[in-house]
Amino acid sequence: MPRFMILTAILLLPNIVLAQAQPKRGIVKLTDEALKIHHAGLLIDGHNDLPWQYRKLDDFAFRKFDIAKPQPQPQLHTDIERLRKGGVGAQFWSAYVDADTAKKKTAVKQTLEQIDVIHRLVKAYPDTFAMAYTADDIVRIRKEGKIASLIGVEGGHSIDNSLGVLRTLHSLGTRYMTLTHSDNLDWADSATDVPKLNGLSPFGESVVLEMNRLGMLVDISHVSADTMRHVLKVTKAPVIASHSSAFALAPHPRNVPDDVLKQVKTNGGVVMVNFYSGFITPEGARLGPVTMKAYRDLKKQYPNAEEFKAAYATWKKEHPMPQGSIHDVVDHIEHIIKIAGIDHVGIGSDYDGIGSAPRQLEDVSTYPYITQELLNRGHSREAIHKILGANVLRVMRAAEAVAERTK
Ligand SMILES: [Zn+2]
Repeated sequence: MPRFMILTAILLLPNIVLAQAQPKRGIVKLTDEALKIHHAGLLIDGHNDLPWQYRKLDDFAFRKFDIAKPQPQPQLHTDIERLRKGGVGAQFWSAYVDADTAKKKTAVKQTLEQIDVIHRLVKAYPDTFAMAYTADDIVRIRKEGKIASLIGVEGGHSIDNSLGVLRTLHSLGTRYMTLTHSDNLDWADSATDVPKLNGLSPFGESVVLEMNRLGMLVDISHVSADTMRHVLKVTKAPVIASHSSAFALAPHPRNVPDDVLKQVKTNGGVVMVNFYSGFITPEGARLGPVTMKAYRDLKKQYPNAEEFKAAYATWKKEHPMPQGSIHDVVDHIEHIIKIAGIDHVGIGSDYDGIGSAPRQLEDVSTYPYITQELLNRGHSREAIHKILGANVLRVMRAAEAVAERTK
């Protein structure tokens, strides 16, 4: 081989290797095959914050926006037309209230109001939604052509240190509780606070066991990695992370590290991937804790809510978040498959709770692109259906069986 050819080959080699190692990351184009697979599956999304939007806009009577009509995006990620286009079969609606409500002693009241909003939302659109409390309900409602609606309480501050309140939330239809939100509790450490307990307190353990007994899924999103590990030691039922991505790909403290992913496999649980730009790229993840610190500092600096809002908006403008794309989200799905296996991954978009969504996953109409990209990367129809919802349905059934045994 002439010398120049050898040289050219050596120069080209790294590019060839790189081209083979990197999947194509251009625009994903929907095919009929993917759409067919997508709509034949049962998509169960672990987390949507639409109920919070009603509180934010002070619209508990559904007057300011009617999701039966198309809603402008990005103001809202969710409306009925787009839910249908996205093929959503079941949705865990989040009954989220700010962690601050714990200090003001309004957490329980506001949580009850958020649960009320979800029930009334379902009643307001009876042709579209129906309440679901069990895995069987989800399957039945899906067969009726409606979107099964479930309640997830986001943050243990909502029980105000009371197992009685926890049981009451369950009797009102709550089927998972995220153990913390952004702040530590007396009984569990959050991923985004300074560690105090390095896991759960003895009362925190009793909360987990009571949730097992009730058949309420234990949600390890938002908790510190040590709390995740502690929960996995204590729980008698499979757990979920209702909206969390993989720490190895985006080192945000509330993403799930690999050792926990392995334990989730042993536990039989499921990690439902969050779409938020700040949790899916390494740059976005690094900005997360800085943003949280700025949020807390500005909140102290500006006790007036309006002034705080303006100052925080300015700060965010000065620190733009890389948007990321559908490829990043599918990378997280594939990473969880690699570490925990195909039976332990799901979808937990966090729509209407996130300020930035990735390209081609801008709202609830876009889920079919995930199916398409999974198909493009060689995943089977069966694997895709597991990711879309079959895995979390299995976890629900297992948690229901544990509750049945410990009644
Ligand atoms: Zn959340």
